[in-house]
Amino acid sequence: MELDRGPAPAASTEPVLEVVDLVTEIRSVRGPIRPVNRVSLRVGRGQAVGLVGESGSGKSMTAFSIMRLFPTPAARVVEGRVLLQGRDLTELPESELRRVRGNHVGMVFQDPSAYLNPVITVGAQIAEQLLAHNWPGDVEQRIAELLTQVGLRPEVAKRYPHELSGGMRQRVSIASAIACDPPLVLADEPTTALDVTVQAQILELLAQLQRKQGMGLLLITHDFGIVAELCDYVYIMYAGEVIEEGPVDDVFEQPRHPYTQGLLQGVLSVTRRDRVRVTVPGSVPDLANPPSGCRFHPRCPRAMPQCRTAPPPRVTAGNGRTACWLYESDQGIGQQRPGGSHDRTNDGSAAS
Ligand code: SF4
Repeated sequence: MELDRGPAPAASTEPVLEVVDLVTEIRSVRGPIRPVNRVSLRVGRGQAVGLVGESGSGKSMTAFSIMRLFPTPAARVVEGRVLLQGRDLTELPESELRRVRGNHVGMVFQDPSAYLNPVITVGAQIAEQLLAHNWPGDVEQRIAELLTQVGLRPEVAKRYPHELSGGMRQRVSIASAIACDPPLVLADEPTTALDVTVQAQILELLAQLQRKQGMGLLLITHDFGIVAELCDYVYIMYAGEVIEEGPVDDVFEQPRHPYTQGLLQGVLSVTRRDRVRVTVPGSVPDLANPPSGCRFHPRCPRAMPQCRTAPPPRVTAGNGRTACWLYESDQGIGQQRPGGSHDRTNDGSAAS
């Protein structure tokens, strides 16, 4: 499957979202757990960025932390900043944050049924969204426009969610997410609950909307194949931390961190467009008691003595960054550069 993403918008390095050293803590009977530990990432205007990791890696909790929509009241952001077009969301009271959600950030979740009210028509739910954020134009006309944009007939507005297929419900939730023309959309596993053919249609829709409207997209997924289809830049998470980042083509061509290499093993010799589920031998650690040093060391085939005692720093490697002692101790490897067209990391700093 190759997506028709439409013409690319003019390139822009202007950030829509900047997450800086974000730490989220959950209070538990076993002590505090940090599912998000010093995570930094950036999404530029008109850029599609992937956040990839196994289940339990902290990627969805990162999305919840950005919008402070925690699945548990025991979770809270304890450090770091979330800058949306320069405004720090961590400092906003809940009442203001509610205005940001939907208006400035659209959200698409794995299971649209969980977020659509079963006793309210689709049109009324999109209207609620528009009215809550003071849409200045004609609401009925906007609903028809949105439904058409996501490939549905305007008459679908009169139907209830249970009258629609899973794919149609996800299209409705995408229409709702983009209703107020937000500069950023967060999509958390948007196709996982759908069958394969519908998955492809929804991905194509997201890709086209993202390109045509020039919005930033942060796509959270455990599927590297989806990132390859949609994204320009990728962050890879392990045990609550970003362990590698870079332009998608570079990471596919030359993954540096042993975890990323494990994720991509086998697919590089085939094609990057193959669907790849995250599979590395072993399992993610218990975050109430994470491994010392590099959190990946119990599963790492290249672990060295220092990996067990000291956390590796994040260093520039090629056109991205990685957190692995192999690159700190061997600058020759760390500074290898693939033949890609990018010469800067995603925050605009010079690579290597
Ligand atoms: Fe493996 Fe050590 Fe690198 Fe961690 S720091 S990924 S254990 S080589």
